[in-house]
Amino acid sequence: MKYISTRGQSPAASFCDILLGGLAPDGGLYLPESYPQIGAAELAEWRELPYHALALKILLKFIDDIPACDLKAIADRTYSSNVYRFCRPGGDAGEITPLTTLEPDFHLLELSNGPTLAFKDMAMQLLGNMFEYVLDKRGETINILGATSGDTGSAAEYAMRGKHNVKVFMLSPEGKMSAFQRAQMYSLQDPNIFNIAVRGMFDDAQDIVKAVSNDADFKAKYRIGAVNSINWARVMAQVVYYFKGYFAATSSNDQEVGFCVPSGNFGNICAGHIARMMGLPIARLVLATNENDVLDEFFKSGIYRPRAAAETHVTSSPSMDISKASNFERFVFDLVGRDTAKLRELWAQVDAGGAFDLRGTEYFAALPGYRFVSGSSSHADRLATIRDVWNRHQIMIDTHTADGVKVGREHREAGVPMIVLETAQAVKFSETLREALGRDPVRPKELEGIENLPQRVEVVDASVDQVKAIITRNC
Ligand SMILES: *Cc1c(COP(=O)(O)O)cnc(C)c1O
Repeated sequence: MKYISTRGQSPAASFCDILLGGLAPDGGLYLPESYPQIGAAELAEWRELPYHALALKILLKFIDDIPACDLKAIADRTYSSNVYRFCRPGGDAGEITPLTTLEPDFHLLELSNGPTLAFKDMAMQLLGNMFEYVLDKRGETINILGATSGDTGSAAEYAMRGKHNVKVFMLSPEGKMSAFQRAQMYSLQDPNIFNIAVRGMFDDAQDIVKAVSNDADFKAKYRIGAVNSINWARVMAQVVYYFKGYFAATSSNDQEVGFCVPSGNFGNICAGHIARMMGLPIARLVLATNENDVLDEFFKSGIYRPRAAAETHVTSSPSMDISKASNFERFVFDLVGRDTAKLRELWAQVDAGGAFDLRGTEYFAALPGYRFVSGSSSHADRLATIRDVWNRHQIMIDTHTADGVKVGREHREAGVPMIVLETAQAVKFSETLREALGRDPVRPKELEGIENLPQRVEVVDASVDQVKAIITRNC
């Protein structure tokens, strides 16, 4: 299996070659040169598999440069009850992505039972094990540099902690995350994890990461890498739970299901698109946004108009607060029939700060064939949905999942099970839960008192040089 760039101007590469990188050299995103096709016999065979075995089957479709026995060891280690030890009270600890039925044909697929209580663990934990494996084989090291306002940074740290040949330097805005989020990251004592709190806002931290990464000499000398949401292996790992959710919500492979996905950077729902391209019987893919409705606007109008960073709303589902969707290019690549010249033309406009409009084109005519629908949600909707699900089912859902439930309900089709992806546990967003319900979510007992643990964090000014100095000193 070879991987190609959406922009068509980079050589094809193997899985291990693109695993550690980010963008392709031509600025595009990597995708497999064709999607593996899953026929009826294979789908039938996969129906009863436990998560780790299903993951192996899917990884083998995309990876041909890691021996199957090694891949099996990686999948077994990643999707085990050692990693996924937190489950909802009453959940089956043996099942890492349980399906909860709210109403007939309306389900939640729990994806946030990993160590940081958000769905990003599902892919990031696999990435951690794969990085370690490939770096060991090649005798190389990597220093991961990132900026976070919460979920991504903690998922990356918990995936990479204790791994050979990997160090993580994670910048966060000082004092801007919740006490719980700070404790989750800063209490890690692993010697390969470096928490750096920047006196400033998230954007200042992000600008430092960009400046360091744009310094080609420094980047090469210190082997600076990233684990952001455009990483192909993260998207690939997410394909697995669409299959798992499909099997859990149906009794026969003749049925179709809908998925509703709380979306920001289009990474999660992109995996759903790929699962469907592989032959999984998905009816609608429902994209849910919060007040940052760039993607809802596209699927309703055919116009993609990324916002300026200053136009981004700060919302109570903060992991979906995006101004442009970094993985969206992967879908548009398929939508334009993998015409790389067309893709480059569209993204020349996006990269220059503009927009593109597909109305009146053959691509707009092709869009309904992909069966995406969308909707958005507001703070008031979020509170109402959290209350409604609590009153009817005594289940606390988090703010992002609430956006999914709200929009998912608007797009149900008779006789077609709808599966809303649960992307985080309520306890991560206690403040809004308290506003909605007047009570706090229950914490998994492993996390009680986490705020009192000793913390390991270095505070710096919003200065590129100070961050570089920390990297230099520790590498
Ligand atoms: C990252 C995240 C999202 C958005 O996922 P994308 O892949 O960026 O679309 C939604 N909910 C939560 C809780 C997240 O952490």
